[in-house]
Amino acid sequence: MMKTSVIGFPRIGKLRELKFATEKYFRSEISQGELLKTAKELRKAHWLMQKSAGIDWIPSGDFSFYDQMLDMCMLFNVIPSEYQALGLDALDTYFAMARGYQGKDGDVKALAMKKWMNTNYHYLVPEFSDETEIRLVGTAPFDMYQEAKADQIETKPVLIGAFTFLKLAKYRGKKGPQDFLLAIAKAYGDILERFHEQGVQWVQFDEPILVTDLSAADVWLFVTLYQKILAQKGSVQVLLQTYFGDVRDVYSEIIKLDFDGIGLDFLEGKQNMALLKQQGFPKEKVLFAGLINGKNIWRCNYKKVLEQLKGLRQYVDSIVLGTSCSLLHVPYTLENEEKLQADIRLYFSFAKEKLKELAELKQLASLADPSQERAWIENEKIFATLANSRDAKVQAQVAALTESDFVRPVLRATRKQIQQEKLQLPLLPTTTIGSFPQTQAVKKNRTKYRKGEITKEMYDQEVYRLIADCIRLQEEIGLDVLVHGEYERNDMVEFFGENLAGYIFTEKAWVQSYGTRCVKPPIIFGDVKRIRPITVSYSKYAQSLTDQPVKGMLTGPVTILNWSFSREDISQKEMAFQIALAIRDEVADLVAAGLKVIQIDEAALKEKLPIRKEDWYRDYLDWAILAFRLCHAHTPPDIQIHTHMCYSEFEAIIQDIDKMDADVISFEASRSKLEILDGLVKEHFQTAVGPGVYDIHSPRVPSTEEMVQTLENMLEKLPAKQLWVNPDCGLKTRGISETTTALKNLVTAAQTVRSALK
Ligand code: GLN
Ligand code: ZN
Repeated sequence: MMKTSVIGFPRIGKLRELKFATEKYFRSEISQGELLKTAKELRKAHWLMQKSAGIDWIPSGDFSFYDQMLDMCMLFNVIPSEYQALGLDALDTYFAMARGYQGKDGDVKALAMKKWMNTNYHYLVPEFSDETEIRLVGTAPFDMYQEAKADQIETKPVLIGAFTFLKLAKYRGKKGPQDFLLAIAKAYGDILERFHEQGVQWVQFDEPILVTDLSAADVWLFVTLYQKILAQKGSVQVLLQTYFGDVRDVYSEIIKLDFDGIGLDFLEGKQNMALLKQQGFPKEKVLFAGLINGKNIWRCNYKKVLEQLKGLRQYVDSIVLGTSCSLLHVPYTLENEEKLQADIRLYFSFAKEKLKELAELKQLASLADPSQERAWIENEKIFATLANSRDAKVQAQVAALTESDFVRPVLRATRKQIQQEKLQLPLLPTTTIGSFPQTQAVKKNRTKYRKGEITKEMYDQEVYRLIADCIRLQEEIGLDVLVHGEYERNDMVEFFGENLAGYIFTEKAWVQSYGTRCVKPPIIFGDVKRIRPITVSYSKYAQSLTDQPVKGMLTGPVTILNWSFSREDISQKEMAFQIALAIRDEVADLVAAGLKVIQIDEAALKEKLPIRKEDWYRDYLDWAILAFRLCHAHTPPDIQIHTHMCYSEFEAIIQDIDKMDADVISFEASRSKLEILDGLVKEHFQTAVGPGVYDIHSPRVPSTEEMVQTLENMLEKLPAKQLWVNPDCGLKTRGISETTTALKNLVTAAQTVRSALK
């Protein structure tokens, strides 16, 4: 009978137990021992769940306290000296690398954080220096394997592979990936030796970088690494796991190497099937076929999967059925959703439910005629009755769009003058990205409303009170362009979705974004349309309290789309345009309400840039940039449009970002270096820019001097006229006192630099 495999399971727990325990530990409310205990219980629960679902290859080591790349750093001694110098124990050193550290033992920034391929999961970027000595120093993978074994569960240890680890790292010194080749190959070899001693049967090395565009040198590095590593595998069987795309640049090499299993994604991996047909699949190897979507929440279509399996069987003898990627990217279980209507619920499958799908498919695949089985019949019925809400008017509106809907008639340079006359901002204007700390008062208000303890009016009254406080605080701090604080939303997408037809919400469908931060993406179920004004009353009220300009704060269509679970029956472009039309209505209402500055966040624009360069425009940018422009093309020239992107790595698409035609863009720049600014100069970037001068993903408060220095560095590259001063993202996850100090320092830094310029 065909077997099943899981690449990875969500670690946060059914009700985010890991998040809460970890945060308590950060606040010193529980001991390290208590945190370890919670972690252990979660691992056990997840193993048992998979075992009872009948999964054949159950992963261990997919658990992590913060991030799996950071786990590899600990395992291999890739710990920059400044963290070692703190003299903390292993787990606290680990958290110091993840979050930065400020205390009596020292003051160190966190490691850089980046998006994991094309997902909204973030990994920590390993940092190699010329002194880095890679050695196997950790024991976590062995301990976890043993831990499962003690519960009679045979697991498949999962680790990030050597190639991906080296390719995603940052190199501070002269040495590059190839200089660490021997050391890293030895360290992985040592791991295999230990697994061999432990009697491990299969190990999984995750190599998602194999689905990116690779150079000949990359392929050489990959092949050389694995020739060395696999020579030490002993009796352990090695699965090379890829996901998020196809392996066109290395398939011919992969099948020659001594892997025992090859994991391919047949959903995002467009060419995997063709590669297999053209080049064949070695008889002695096992194909781990990723056929169930690990990234989306829809039920899988059994008929389709069985057909795909049949196709694969023509070329492959030994097939294991699996998900396309780790289940980390979908919520834990549908069981938590009590409010979801029964007729809608049918269409969904979260991580736990996907285990059941794997098990059912395993059964069905073994039958000559599965069509009489209950599981098959039920599944077929679901797909025969898919009836999501259609809106002919919205569809017609999208179809009728013309060029003028995408072009702001007055040029940016002219707009700049018009806006400056109206806004009268100083050089190096200061602002924030939108949200202010979500204090206890903010959360309490939301909880009370959600539980029905207060009415919408009472809820809004409290939001207004918070807005008033926030405006006063910002005036006191001395910021130039103010925000209302975003107290009415705890999530920048869900809040908008709640006011859009076509959206469905979950109660507890959390997905890990980074560390203990989870997001709850809403689901696009039907055609999207704005039901009512969304932010207007809050922004209007905030503006009424001050003479300073207040920025209206919206989420852009591409981000709303990228951070939702989206439909599979219409195109991404179609969905993005529908959402953009809704945001366009909101922009118009904000303008009518007297807002002079409007920010349309595209935090996640870069995130879904296709992995392969040849797909960038055709599959994505061609419509994504247009969707953004659709939101603001009709705005009068004196309204200043801002946008914000969470990550600064847009070197390769600088011109496309400029084509969004915003007046100002802010982005993250404090955790990564300022190379992006060179790119902006080189490409003659026209949009004014606010590269973040401090890292809000860490509780550390930067000093005035530090930010003065940052600004001076920026001014070496960019003209003062083009520069804004702001943190690198919204402040919602921070505490109020650290935020106040940091912002005061920021304003003082801007003033200092400003007066030096005069
Ligand atoms: N305006 C949003 C905020 O400040 C932007 C958040 C984000 O970029 N992720 O919270
Ligand atoms: Zn951001």
